[in-house]
Amino acid sequence: MSGCENAVEYVYQYIDGELTMTRRARVRWHLRRCGNCIDAYSFETELKARVAKAGREAPSEEFLSTLRALIEEEKARPGA
Ligand SMILES: [Zn+2]
Repeated sequence: MSGCENAVEYVYQYIDGELTMTRRARVRWHLRRCGNCIDAYSFETELKARVAKAGREAPSEEFLSTLRALIEEEKARPGA
């Protein structure tokens, strides 16, 4: 499914402290449709690979658990 690159990009920007309601909404919108990203493991792996490639510090556990919570929330949505 397309759009995963963008979704990872939005999350990547969160790390820079640019977490905005709009970006959060975009990620949620993508997660709602994407069977790949809803698999938290692959989304996280993709994000970590991207961070490593950019030579950045790895995302904090705190950040990752926020991300996991967001994904779990989407998984739990009725009718999703
Ligand atoms: Zn996706």
